[in-house]
Amino acid sequence: MSYLLESPPVGVEISRDQNSYIPERRFPQHPFAGSVDDFLPGSCEAAGFFRRSAWSWYDGRLDVGLQEAAAAVDVKCDDNHEPCELAPFWHIALLIKARELDAAWRALNSLEMRRGASEAERVTATSHVIRGDLLFAMGRVEEGLAEVNAGLRVAERCGARSLLPTGYVVMALGALRRADMRACLHFVDKLTGEALLGYFGQAAGAWVTAQAAEARGGVDNAAGLIAGIVTHPFVLRQLLVSEPAAASWLVRASGKLGARDLAQAVVIAACAASGKQSRFGVVRAAALHAAGLLEKDSCKLLEAANLYPDRWCGASAREDLAGLLAARRSERNNTIHILESALGAYTAVGATRDASRIVNKLRDFGVRRGAIRAVERDGDLPHGLTNTEFAVAELVSQGHTNNEVGRQLFISRHTVAFHLKKVYQKMSVASRVELAASWKAMQ
Ligand SMILES: [Zn+2]
Repeated sequence: MSYLLESPPVGVEISRDQNSYIPERRFPQHPFAGSVDDFLPGSCEAAGFFRRSAWSWYDGRLDVGLQEAAAAVDVKCDDNHEPCELAPFWHIALLIKARELDAAWRALNSLEMRRGASEAERVTATSHVIRGDLLFAMGRVEEGLAEVNAGLRVAERCGARSLLPTGYVVMALGALRRADMRACLHFVDKLTGEALLGYFGQAAGAWVTAQAAEARGGVDNAAGLIAGIVTHPFVLRQLLVSEPAAASWLVRASGKLGARDLAQAVVIAACAASGKQSRFGVVRAAALHAAGLLEKDSCKLLEAANLYPDRWCGASAREDLAGLLAARRSERNNTIHILESALGAYTAVGATRDASRIVNKLRDFGVRRGAIRAVERDGDLPHGLTNTEFAVAELVSQGHTNNEVGRQLFISRHTVAFHLKKVYQKMSVASRVELAASWKAMQ
């Protein structure tokens, strides 16, 4: 999967001096708008700001990227370039990456109010995808994924390729958190296809792909990609200002691989990003979270949990904090309390997979919560299945082995076999193939 981590084009050299930061040269793809060479050869000022903004973010400078994007929005494009119309959306996309969600929400709504009724399909698609990305970051997952999906359909129809990866990343991540591996792998496949074409800003796609590989086959399955991300400076810098959950995930995964050097490299890069861009609480929180994990520092984890503007990330920091405290007998009640708080947040943002992991951790403390009770399945389930049986049946009918199902639901394969037997009885089927057929017919 190394093609996900292609080097930037030859000749990219970027100043490392903080005070005279000037992003230089070019990259092959422009956010939302296709190839740089395809557009804006003239002297449009807005386009210049837009381009510099994209370059800066690409190099891990969200602060400079945001300044330049705001300038691109302020300067009016006199030539009605279609790509210039997309600059306000790019600005909002960067606000979302910075988790300045209120500002992003205001900007998006005022933009929608100014926009005319008739417009290019590319603009419509971009608007849907960005709104979905924002809703997803706000924890309004269902609405967010529906918006992104609507935007992707328009983008695929009108050939707005450069928008697709942004949408696929949200869809894959959303599916992964809901333990819907079929949908996750579907979007990871699509991301891989775009990566082969050299899409812009590949870091988030590489990270989602690594997570899917881990969920499917364990962390060893993702080892090559993890090492690739961490040792590739461009990809790592870009990822750290794109996905707040990435740094801590990489430290955790490196830890499982026994690769302390990789974990250290992530922490160093995250702290460097935070040092340069301390105005972003989310970047600081991500650095504290990563460092707290590596150094087993509960104060840093707690600070990260309180600082994250993103609910899922806050829950993740609390889960790691509970992991540290669990080793101390005197902290038993505190640990349970923190785990329950993380469970509540994961449940609220529809993160079934993460919620079921916490349910299992709570069980180790003798606290019973209905497994996957967190799943947002209201009402009666078919054939009188319990929530766990439903989740097992769903994954088995997608073709997963008991081992894989167990890994995704954080239960042992023996427990999976036990639940599966119940499913067979309740649904009057005798094999996985029959189950898959009945499941398909049922839906
Ligand atoms: Zn223009």
